[in-house]
Amino acid sequence: MSPGKLIIISAPSGCGKSTIIGEIIDNPALRLEFSISATTREPRRGEVDGVNYYFLSVDDFEKAISNDELVEYEEVYAGRYYGTLKSEIARIQAKGKNVILDIDVKGGVNVKEKYAGNALSIFIQPPSIDTLRQRLLSRDTDSIEAINQRVDKAAYELTFASRFDRVVVNDVLSDAVAEVEKIISEFVNA
Ligand code: 5GP
Repeated sequence: MSPGKLIIISAPSGCGKSTIIGEIIDNPALRLEFSISATTREPRRGEVDGVNYYFLSVDDFEKAISNDELVEYEEVYAGRYYGTLKSEIARIQAKGKNVILDIDVKGGVNVKEKYAGNALSIFIQPPSIDTLRQRLLSRDTDSIEAINQRVDKAAYELTFASRFDRVVVNDVLSDAVAEVEKIISEFVNA
């Protein structure tokens, strides 16, 4: 068992990724700490700088890029940058804990490539595109246009699944949580 491993969780939006991470983050057997990303998007209500994200101006984000402070970054939505800070990974590893990253599918593939055997990448998949559409519709938070856009994006993101170490289908949430916990436990305790 060596501490400081990276666990990457990626998924199309609406697949339950954040819920799954919330369920496993405090499992003491996994010794996880959440990697707080940098982003240029505005904080949502209730979000706190340095807790949910490091909220940066575009200027500061660009400085971080040119100073080579990021492990990876992506423009996940038009004009909105998200990236993993090297200092964040180092902060968590220095505590002897494993780092869990909630990042988009491209970021997930990039971090896995960089950290190779010290990283485990998990792709959370909806049972089907139709189920995903139903889930987004039942949340009732987005317009039909926005939902169609997210579904189209999800269909594209699903093509990345084969580039991940493991794929977990989130049909029944409790089953998906148990499967993810088992996969991480095997990896961090190997
Ligand atoms: P949200 O704005 O809903 O918090 O996040 C939008 C998307 O950005 C999610 O898919 C999330 O996983 C992704 N994301 C968050 N942080 C990072 C990061 O550091 N790098 C990359 N590539 N994606 C991220």
